[in-house]
Amino acid sequence: MALDTIDIGVLVAIGIISLTYFTKGKLWSKGTLADPFSSENTNLINSNGSDGSDLVEKLKSSNHKAVVIYGSQTGTAEDYASKFAKEFQSKFKISTLLVDIEDYELNNLNEIPRDVLIFFFMATYGEGEFTDSAAEFGEYLESELSETFDDDDGDESEKLLSNLNYSVFGLGNSTYEFYNEVGNKVNKILSKNGAKLVAPYGQGDDGQGSMDEDYLAWKENCFESLKNSLSLVEHDSTYQPSVSIIPTSGDFDISKVFLGEPDKFYLNENEDSDSLSLGPFDHTHPYLAPVSFSKQLFSKDSNRHCVHAEFDLSKSNLRYSTGDHLALWPSNPDQEVLNFYKAFDLSKEKLEKPFDIKPLDSTTIISFPTPTTMEALVRYHLEITGSVSRQFLKSISIFAPNEESRSKANLLSSNKEEFSNEITSNKLNISDTLLKISNNVAWTKVPFEFLIESIQHIQPRYYSISSSSLSEKKIAHITAVVEEETTAVKNVVGVATNLLLNVEVNQNKLKNEDSLVKPLVTYDLNGPRNKFQDFKLPIHIRRSTFKLPVKPGTPIILVGPGTGVAPMRGFVRERVQQFKNGVKVGKILLFYGCRNSNEDFLYKEEWAEYKNVLGDLFEMVTAFSREDANKKVYVQNRMEEYSSKINEYISEAGYIYVCGDASRMARDVQNTFIKIIIKERKFNEVIATEMIRNFKTNNKYQEDVW
Ligand code: FAD
Repeated sequence: MALDTIDIGVLVAIGIISLTYFTKGKLWSKGTLADPFSSENTNLINSNGSDGSDLVEKLKSSNHKAVVIYGSQTGTAEDYASKFAKEFQSKFKISTLLVDIEDYELNNLNEIPRDVLIFFFMATYGEGEFTDSAAEFGEYLESELSETFDDDDGDESEKLLSNLNYSVFGLGNSTYEFYNEVGNKVNKILSKNGAKLVAPYGQGDDGQGSMDEDYLAWKENCFESLKNSLSLVEHDSTYQPSVSIIPTSGDFDISKVFLGEPDKFYLNENEDSDSLSLGPFDHTHPYLAPVSFSKQLFSKDSNRHCVHAEFDLSKSNLRYSTGDHLALWPSNPDQEVLNFYKAFDLSKEKLEKPFDIKPLDSTTIISFPTPTTMEALVRYHLEITGSVSRQFLKSISIFAPNEESRSKANLLSSNKEEFSNEITSNKLNISDTLLKISNNVAWTKVPFEFLIESIQHIQPRYYSISSSSLSEKKIAHITAVVEEETTAVKNVVGVATNLLLNVEVNQNKLKNEDSLVKPLVTYDLNGPRNKFQDFKLPIHIRRSTFKLPVKPGTPIILVGPGTGVAPMRGFVRERVQQFKNGVKVGKILLFYGCRNSNEDFLYKEEWAEYKNVLGDLFEMVTAFSREDANKKVYVQNRMEEYSSKINEYISEAGYIYVCGDASRMARDVQNTFIKIIIKERKFNEVIATEMIRNFKTNNKYQEDVW
């Protein structure tokens, strides 16, 4: 077969790749820091330089001798960075600055004082990308600092970053192709530019579920290295709050207290009414969107649930484009809130007493609005349902209600296997764990400050929008499978999806039989001061790069098993609307898979309607994994059957889209495409693999996986 333009592109790419070279690790050599760590100031600062602050200036004008910088997308990197900063400061008595990477200009790292240690906590997002917050830093590294790569033989002291003493902990997921790409890149580029790695580079793997253990192992290693190479002196770790809680006085105006309102605009609605409809809406300010319609998508016989919800944006100027993500700000379910109250003996009086939270330094950020109450924090701001870490248990053990509980907590937190057997494998959360350890005695000695600082703050959950902005401009649909499991010891629930299920069940209570569904947990759907009444939920839209080709005539292959079909539905609806508008659209080949055609076939009736409009331009291929007891069929199997047709699409410059489960499906599907190319084009594996990689680089193979 003759080489087409795509094949030539692949060969060129392979040629270029073969010119890349390997890095040389450069370990920091002992004793080059000049007596840096004398500070007695132990206030941990979560620093906000959102005025475009210069980190170098900040360091010169303060006495911080360590900076912990995080680039976080979903809050995990932030959480680990914050824990690390606290422990590092407390252990070594070194004043530490905690920095969200988006708050500072970091393009003058070469001017960071030599006596400052920099720790990066960098998450990798999507296809090996920097998080939104770290995008600018990524550009700086890749453009300005990468240029100095060739200068590899020069004197270390002359290199651009020879002043910088750093370490990196990368957070990634090994089921993705570009595992910890960002952590690797930061480490590699800094090192190439002469920066000194003062403690080993570390990686945490979400894909193997070992993030916590990876972090703990790296942290121990890091502390040991710092003690050995920099002669840092270790002190007994004591808890030092970075915030202080100030109870409000008796005559305080309660209307000024946040009871769960997402931000100030929702408290002062009359003064700021424009902000509630005009935005801008983002991760700092959500739109309170009415769920105008919802329904369940799995059949009534299924013991699982999937919710289709439509968010009405018409009373706001919030807009999306097809393929974007909707971010939903969840709250905690009643049952988990009560369990938390029990674990810490939070009486009504303690819960309702308003307080302000003051940073112990003027640059500290409080990430939720204040003044507030503990009741509001537990329901709306603290992530109380998820798994608990050994690190958390270790730090809270000093506040155990009695000696026996303290030693049990210490024992468990220092023994990986026992912790895994007793806590992790039973899916216990914070409250479950503490109550189990103490035999149901409440942990009354734990300060509020500790809870506020140590428990991760609730982050929005993302959903691939399943509608098209062309056919439904002012309504965004999502398709969410409900996370629910009943184990021998408890109900394990996902907070956002069970909230959606509650909305659906209550919204349709009077209408249909869905009301027979009894969710495992319930919620306060009315929200603070009834502001969420009539099924409103706080949301914002996150722009995505998962986009249809610019030319509507381009053929597309869509692979979206399970809820991975969500954005594919949006794409098909978009083309249906374009077709109706007289646009010449390209053909669509959709691969969809689920367990059973009668149980969990998402939008089963709709696909025929699309076919009616698009005719031969739309072909849907289904795979049912549990329909035939003798044979499990997945989308990859069906793709192989369509090998020749897939090759035809590719030859016609078609685009490929894959959405859904990141752990196995995305990789299996990619391997299937490689197999198909090998078979149809008689290429070897290296070339076929490079061809797919090349597609990805050129956005002709796009993934939206989670
Ligand atoms: P969480 O509260 O986040 O819980 C996560 C999991 O942990 C659940 O399985 C829960 O049961 C379990 N769990 C709870 N407590 C514990 C415990 N103590 N120990 C161990 N495990 C526990 N999902 C969709 O359904 N449709 C989509 O279209 C979609 N699109 C996405 C797009 C993007 C870009 C991303 C990043 C994700 C997407 N997701 C989608 C996933 C979605 O964001 C949520 O992660 C998912 O819905 C679960 O959210 P939750 O709040 O219900 O669960």
